[in-house]
Amino acid sequence: MLKTGCFVLIALMAVPLKAAVPEVKVLIAKSLKKVIVEGIDLQKTIHTQNKSQQYRGRKSISFDCRPSQRARFFPKTPLLVASLSSPTGLISWGQHKYKGELQLLTNPGKESCDLVNLVPMEAYLTTLLSKEMNGTWPVEALKAQAVAARTYAYERIRKGQQVDDEKLYHLESSEKDQVSGTFKDITTNTMRAARETHGEILVGPSGRIAPVFFHSKCGGKTLRPDQVWGGVEEGYRSVNCTFCSKTGMKDWQHRMKGEKLTSMVDRVLKRYYADQTVGTDIKLMPDSTENSELRLYVGDRLHIIKKSYLRNLAGRELLPSNNFVMTMNNREVHVEGQGYGHGVGLCQLGALELAKRGYTYRQILSHYFPRHKMKKAY
Ligand SMILES: [Zn+2]
Repeated sequence: MLKTGCFVLIALMAVPLKAAVPEVKVLIAKSLKKVIVEGIDLQKTIHTQNKSQQYRGRKSISFDCRPSQRARFFPKTPLLVASLSSPTGLISWGQHKYKGELQLLTNPGKESCDLVNLVPMEAYLTTLLSKEMNGTWPVEALKAQAVAARTYAYERIRKGQQVDDEKLYHLESSEKDQVSGTFKDITTNTMRAARETHGEILVGPSGRIAPVFFHSKCGGKTLRPDQVWGGVEEGYRSVNCTFCSKTGMKDWQHRMKGEKLTSMVDRVLKRYYADQTVGTDIKLMPDSTENSELRLYVGDRLHIIKKSYLRNLAGRELLPSNNFVMTMNNREVHVEGQGYGHGVGLCQLGALELAKRGYTYRQILSHYFPRHKMKKAY
């Protein structure tokens, strides 16, 4: 009897333990005065009162997020107020249906509520792929995007666990992080792309899990994170990409007055370089697409500023990408550029073209991340 018991135990130990699929907490809406959530057999937990309740059948629950006359108390830090889920696996907020759980947080600054969707990573990716790419794109392009987006979210979850346990969400559904969708954005291709890359992430050359970036269209070459944001991330290279040239936004150009550039440069120097230089006499030095920085004189002082910082202030209308050349002629500034987005990491339109040409997602990823390695995270 004892022997059989030992054998069973050894046999169980020999089976590798499969890590659970992590759950992502995604901020889906901010500063709401009122939230109405609907679903079948809803399970509601009010964390602030430590109370749970189950409703039978279809139910609509309304939360008034304005601080009421009776309870002026509004916590100074964000607080998880309520969690709502349904055994059907779907829950609605307005017209939008979500998988997983909806969580209501207080937003003290705005005296309102924020809404978070707690959702398993793989389900999260099936909606995201339609928003970040397009649910009808070739599966190999979607798979490359799935690995990149999974890595980004996975890194955020791990970072949250290591640094700040109090954080009530991992990332925002916005351009700040990555845009995810709702139940209606799931397609056969997005489901396949998530399933066929289940748990796969990219790691740096040393094996370190680090953020992986992507953008819409590089316009000829990708950029390294340090060229755009300043921080160094291991493994990144600027790679050539001729694949996105025929799709998406056409090459763009603008003219603007020298005074406009002067005021933008003033603001860039103050905000990013803590430099109080003020001058009206700006002279641009020769620029090329190879340069991720602009060299310019304000009076007799030479400044070197990142093109991406100028884009942050000028906005995407004026500077759709960081891949541009700026020249000056008789107090008139001429900007010519290619691409759309920050330019770091995976070029989505390039990935689309490569997938159409028969490249696999692994080949696509190794083009844009030549030094990164693939790893199964769970
Ligand atoms: Zn490209």
